[in-house]
Amino acid sequence: MTWRADILTLFPEMFPGPLGLSLAGRGLREGLWSLASHDIRDHAKDRHRSVDDTPFGGGAGMVLRPDVVDAASGAALAEAPARPVIYLTPRGRLLDQALVRELAAGPGLVLLCGRYEGVDQRVIEARGMLEVSIGDYVLSGGELAALTLLDACVRLLPGVMGAAESAAEESHGAEGLLEYPHYTRPAEWAGRAVPEVLLSGHHAAIAAWRRAEFRRGAGGRELRLLIGFELLQDIHVGTLSSVSLGGGGMAGNGPRAPARCFVPRP
Ligand code: SAM
Repeated sequence: MTWRADILTLFPEMFPGPLGLSLAGRGLREGLWSLASHDIRDHAKDRHRSVDDTPFGGGAGMVLRPDVVDAASGAALAEAPARPVIYLTPRGRLLDQALVRELAAGPGLVLLCGRYEGVDQRVIEARGMLEVSIGDYVLSGGELAALTLLDACVRLLPGVMGAAESAAEESHGAEGLLEYPHYTRPAEWAGRAVPEVLLSGHHAAIAAWRRAEFRRGAGGRELRLLIGFELLQDIHVGTLSSVSLGGGGMAGNGPRAPARCFVPRP
């Protein structure tokens, strides 16, 4: 069965957008995956086609109504059930390559794109939606987040990437490391030379250099996490303890954290 994505949005014309181009676009045309975008407004209940209302408790902005979103989700799932429904939201668990791999290995997904202040929490819970964020910043709508998530998944589908662009050796692989830097001609540019070993033709030495650079990438990340810890220590005085809080696959919307972080022990 073809991997299928259904998008629930107020702006269906934003899809496939950039995913209609390049490798993803070719895969779409060749039927390696399929995409359907649905206007949430088609499920409005009144003659004004309203999809949102003011928030209980007051405050600025509007909230997408649970009954309208529920009807839109039900209609998309009816076409191909047994797929996870994902609500893109800054409150969700951070998207990472482990989750991308898991989603790409499944039958597809339904993506709910919020607008305004977001979506009524009750329909998110009632539908058992997975809440996913693409980063710690706020977009005006879930559409760009949905395109990002889709792009990451689609490139992993069988046949979408050619051998030349293989995902076999790249960042965030099984060991969670970051890829080595790349260089091409000219060998010297703007006074900067390519690392000599890459011009040596010595395959074993090149492989060793690449392995070392893979580790260096990871080292940079660890350093950033440690700098974050230094800031934390200014607030809490505690003993350093390294814990793993991330991963957890698709199971629930548990505590949000990078794959690995350092917290002060109580
Ligand atoms: N009131 C929300 C908050 O403070 O968390 C922000 C709502 S935002 C203006 C509107 C919609 O954009 C959200 O419902 C969500 O679908 C989408 N969105 C914004 N930032 C996002 C992010 N970092 N990751 C995923 N979706 C995001």
